[in-house]
Amino acid sequence: MRPVFAKILIANRGEIACRVTRTARRMGIATVAVYSDADARSRHVALADEAFRIGPPEPKDSYLRGDRILEAATSSGASAIHPGYGFLSENAEFAERCGRAGITFVGPPPEAIRAMGDKSAAKTMMERAGVPLVPGYHGGNQAPDFLLDQAERIGFPVLIKAAAGGGGKGMRAVEHKAEFDAALAACRREASSAFGDERVLLEKYLDRPRHIEIQVFADRHGGCIHLFERDCSVQRRHQKVLEEAPAPGMAEDRRLEMGEAALLACRAVGYVGAGTVEFIVDRAGAFFFMEMNTRLQVEHAVTEMITGLDLVEWQLRIAAGEKLPLVQKDLRISGHAIEARVYAEDPRRDFLPASGRLVHLVLPAESEDVRVDTGVRSGDEITVHYDPMIAKLIVRGSDRPAALERMRQALAEFQVAGLVTNLGFLWRLVQDRDFVRAEFDTALIERHRSELLAPSAPAGEDALTLAALSQLDAGWRGEARRPGERSSPWSLADGWRANQDGARLLVFQEGERRHSVTARRRGEGFELEFADKRRQVTSYRREDHRLTARLEDATVEGSVVRLGSRIEVFMPGRHHVLEMHDPLRQELAVESRAGDLEAPMPGKIIAIFVAAGDGVEKDAPLLILEAMKMEHTIRAPARGRIARVLCRLGEQVGEGAELIEFEISGKEAAA
Ligand code: ADP
Ligand code: ADP
Ligand code: MG
Repeated sequence: MRPVFAKILIANRGEIACRVTRTARRMGIATVAVYSDADARSRHVALADEAFRIGPPEPKDSYLRGDRILEAATSSGASAIHPGYGFLSENAEFAERCGRAGITFVGPPPEAIRAMGDKSAAKTMMERAGVPLVPGYHGGNQAPDFLLDQAERIGFPVLIKAAAGGGGKGMRAVEHKAEFDAALAACRREASSAFGDERVLLEKYLDRPRHIEIQVFADRHGGCIHLFERDCSVQRRHQKVLEEAPAPGMAEDRRLEMGEAALLACRAVGYVGAGTVEFIVDRAGAFFFMEMNTRLQVEHAVTEMITGLDLVEWQLRIAAGEKLPLVQKDLRISGHAIEARVYAEDPRRDFLPASGRLVHLVLPAESEDVRVDTGVRSGDEITVHYDPMIAKLIVRGSDRPAALERMRQALAEFQVAGLVTNLGFLWRLVQDRDFVRAEFDTALIERHRSELLAPSAPAGEDALTLAALSQLDAGWRGEARRPGERSSPWSLADGWRANQDGARLLVFQEGERRHSVTARRRGEGFELEFADKRRQVTSYRREDHRLTARLEDATVEGSVVRLGSRIEVFMPGRHHVLEMHDPLRQELAVESRAGDLEAPMPGKIIAIFVAAGDGVEKDAPLLILEAMKMEHTIRAPARGRIARVLCRLGEQVGEGAELIEFEISGKEAAA
């Protein structure tokens, strides 16, 4: 059979580009990737049949350059463009330009994108179509006094939203009248800088609501169906973290009503293709239209898992003019699916995005019921330019408890070393008692913050055994052995000293905690002495990162990843980052820390106060780094001299980037 398109271009990157490529390949469609300089060697490029460079890393110079993307489509002979999500996926002008160039935009008509792109206009239209709305104001009068009157009419708390908003940005909840003016001004500033449009709308701020959305599909022949709901209530900062389908506790008649309302919304804008109608649901179960996303969503995979359908295939077929493959009554929900978004971010620092190299990446094994969508491989970089998502983990079970158990197992198999992730946070979240009981709403994470973000348990004897063995094993540490020579931990020239009875002291720093282990050689193994216990390791075996230690009455297994003096230990459901503590090198470390000043997080340099050659006092401000809309001042660690400034004003820097070379003045350095 002839494929629906001979060749398509995928105007995106990362996991969604890889995911679209996979379906296209299965359908016999050739694929063209586009990439920025940051992505030249990335997975989505490697998977595609052809690839075009479209510019420097910054999205505005690459993935948002519709002109370059169209050029790539034309010169490669692609007849359709799939925009994925984000970037140009909801850009009506781009969809129009595709049309003019004779290239099929895999998405709805530009008019539908435009109609739904403005939340205020969309709500006006939905109101007319009879779709229920949250009480609020979404008209054109933007005078602060008038808006305040409206807020009082609606009744506090109210939510101020950017009319052009998305991604949880440009939104502010206001509890009291007195805070309204300041919140309005802040919301406007954010909206104007993020979306170039400062118009806002007001909504009643619902108490402990749920976010339930309906996946819809329409074709060009009048066919319009929904693929049930997804519950995306588990959010942080108004952004989804866990998504599932079906929504726990959803009654069949409510499902029908919500599905009907979503179809009403679709028909009102002449929708074609895949879309999602988002509803906010109050505690009594009443639902209200929030917005419609006119594209494929990140969480579409949970719908695929419970319906057994490939939504990208549907998108491509409909874009090619085919009818919907199924009618409403053919659709069934089978089992329960949950998705977790695995991010490079630090939950304990307000979910600050992280960047850096994925030194070691082990993904859970995939099966019919476990799916991992990712755009990265071990060794790849998470850069500051794009969303810090590492992967989406999607699982299915015959029911919700079975899906949850599978999610727990899959999370325990996940291993990431080299940068901070939300894996530990997700691990706790999926075991949170209210989440497990399906008693949740959009404030769950906030409410359980202290448990979800509590410090992790310290490394126990098992983890320390593995860490110690990785340090004692000469082969691991890359030391050449002469033929016939037995590895001897005693011959290492690393500053570790054996005392009279041949014992070696190993000290591991884990955050604020320090663990000491004393090791003595015993035949093929070791005797390890911990704070108040000792154990015999009779033998051990190592295979790449996997390490198995046999004790007298048990076996300890895990993975160990070493990076300089850093040791990361993974055991099912546990992850520890340890630093080899070397008393001899300690001073050196302090000195070099003072020598280069590094960016504590990814951000933008917004002020530089010093130049090479300047002398500064301890704590003098040297530069300001802006990250996550907050300013961080980098100060002189001691009295000294600026040797070199290694960053430029306006530069975007990654975590750990060297910013300033600093020389401590003679007297202080000697002290
Ligand atoms: P975005 O375009 O950023 O996705 P949405 O309008 O979809 O913005 O809202 C994002 C999230 O904000 C919702 O999923 C929900 O958690 C919260 N939210 C939105 N509207 C309300 C409301 N009226 N009351 C309470 N929470 C809301
Ligand atoms: P963190 O490890 O982030 O400090 P926790 O100790 O709460 O947070 O993590 C609980 C569990 O989450 C770990 O024991 C492990 O199962 C998993 N986990 C955390 N980080 C990682 C990671 N980088 N790779 C694999 N699993 C991880
Ligand atoms: Mg939304």
